[in-house]
Amino acid sequence: MKKIGILAIQGSVIEHEKILKKLNADYYLVRTKEDLSSLTHLIIPGGESTTMEKLLRTYNIWDILQEKINVKSLNVFGTCAGAILLSKLGMDIEIERNGFGSQLHSFYADIESDKFQNLKGVFIRAPKFTSHSNDVIVLATYNDEPVLLEQNNMLACGFHPELNDEVRIHEWFLR
Ligand code: GLN
Repeated sequence: MKKIGILAIQGSVIEHEKILKKLNADYYLVRTKEDLSSLTHLIIPGGESTTMEKLLRTYNIWDILQEKINVKSLNVFGTCAGAILLSKLGMDIEIERNGFGSQLHSFYADIESDKFQNLKGVFIRAPKFTSHSNDVIVLATYNDEPVLLEQNNMLACGFHPELNDEVRIHEWFLR
């Protein structure tokens, strides 16, 4: 039985809710460590990774989250700031924050992927994934740079599929 949550302490929560509604998936908003119990899937939205990390630590969610990810009892999908947090929570990826430029350099672009045809993505202060272990699978690239990566129970996305009604990546995460 799936139990899906969206981390709802900061960032683009509503946009992820819209996608899950489109997929007819029930979900919970996660704001406390108690909300994590029996979750099978967690989405960490875009926003501000430093703020989110600080709040997660203040609310004593960080360590529990890290443990659940490590023992693979929780599947996690991080977009943008969420992907940055995944790099700190155990995913074997190195990131450069704002690697695709500042807010002013936000852009919408075609993304290359064998798995998802005609994929487009919104990049807003997006991180660059500068390296990753062999364990990590690159599912999509932009300008030959990885932008969607998967490792076991973790899915990291540098762009924002939730901002242009792209449901396939969420569907892939929930499969
Ligand atoms: N650059 C932001 C950060 O470092 C992420 C931006 C975003 O999520 N759109 O947290």
